[in-house]
Amino acid sequence: MTYEKSIQAFSEAVHLMPGGVNSPVRAFKSVNTDPIFMESGKGAIIKDIDGNEYIDYVLSWGPLILGHSHPEVVEAIQEQVAKGASFGAPTLLENKLAQIVIDRVPSVEMVRFVSSGTEATMAALRLARGYTGRDIILKFEGSYHGHGDSLLIKAGSGVATLGLPDSPGVPADIAKNTMTVAYNDLEAVQVVFETYGQQIAGVIVEPVAGNMGVVPPKPGFLEGLRKVTEENGALLIFDEVMTGFRVDYNCAQGYFGVNPDLTCLGKVVGGGLPVGAFAGKREIMEHIAPAGSVYQAGTLSGNPLAMTAGIETLSRLTPESYEHFKKLGDQLEAGIREAATKYNIPHTVNRAGSMIGLFLTNEEVVDFASAKTADLEMFAEYFRLMAEEGIYLPPSQFEGLFISTAHTEEHIAKTVQAFHNVFAKLAK
Ligand code: PMP
Repeated sequence: MTYEKSIQAFSEAVHLMPGGVNSPVRAFKSVNTDPIFMESGKGAIIKDIDGNEYIDYVLSWGPLILGHSHPEVVEAIQEQVAKGASFGAPTLLENKLAQIVIDRVPSVEMVRFVSSGTEATMAALRLARGYTGRDIILKFEGSYHGHGDSLLIKAGSGVATLGLPDSPGVPADIAKNTMTVAYNDLEAVQVVFETYGQQIAGVIVEPVAGNMGVVPPKPGFLEGLRKVTEENGALLIFDEVMTGFRVDYNCAQGYFGVNPDLTCLGKVVGGGLPVGAFAGKREIMEHIAPAGSVYQAGTLSGNPLAMTAGIETLSRLTPESYEHFKKLGDQLEAGIREAATKYNIPHTVNRAGSMIGLFLTNEEVVDFASAKTADLEMFAEYFRLMAEEGIYLPPSQFEGLFISTAHTEEHIAKTVQAFHNVFAKLAK
């Protein structure tokens, strides 16, 4: 495998964009190599600009749950663009996608579409603060909720990948209203509520953490958050940008049977086009302008192309799709464990549906501190060797792998073989 064209393209990109990219993790910094420039994707396979092909487990960081360039999704978007790409006026497409979201997400009665996950979480916080008249937000260390000022505190994803401290540019006066505790530490949450309960507007949580690697909630954790927020008049906000329509047909809240007050969506809801949403109970959502006075708006919000991609993607996901994910997830998880055990590679595999996280550590991973016990040097080598084997993984220990409906048992078998080949090399 050669990466000549990618290397050349990156040497040009670094003069054009900060770090050569438009989103930090794409720069492959934590795996000590140049990024791979992609050219096309079809189903589970992506091709780079040097002509190398990979089985893709990144799927654009989650949205492409039907795989790349699903023919019917492509056709629908083409038809829509011929009719008009944007009107800045209501369309029937927004009603249709809103209805699908309301039907499928248990706690949701109303939805507002935006253009990214970051916008969704920022707006949800403003709504929680506007609704409760309180300022403090509680979040969890190593969780990532986009790059809004209030949420860029002890964040996961690229912030964790690059080992950055809390970001310069976030005013101290804003940061002081964000409190953080360890993921899965319900006791710490209760202690914070004992002191600040009447000042807390909301708790924002990834119902399965996916930005410190994959960390599922301990039994009782989400239920405990539901209880303590209810008792204190604070809102429970599930950030389902990653887990929404990924962990389960009815999202993580359906899977775990815990209903939040507000839900943030992104990724799958837009099927690969820029869509986010915040949603929830009617009584709370009607505080948003113009129904209410909490302001939020967007020139391209509810964009017809993006709505089309979302509608076409969600309507092709059925309960059977999630059976498929479970079957392939079981196969991949068992394969990784077997290969790692055979070559004595430190490993912990965490899993929630089609979100899979391999940590190169033998410690149980339940929060960001335990996630950080992983061997990051070995991870970098593992990532590069897997790419050589034609397997494209997230270039960070703190991100999960995703499966699409286009992945097959053969893809997984080939991937498991690659794990054997790579772990054999790492064991030497
Ligand atoms: N919340 C979660 C849970 C996420 O995983 C992400 C992105 N990975 C975001 C919010 C931010 O979404 P976006 O990148 O679309 O702004």
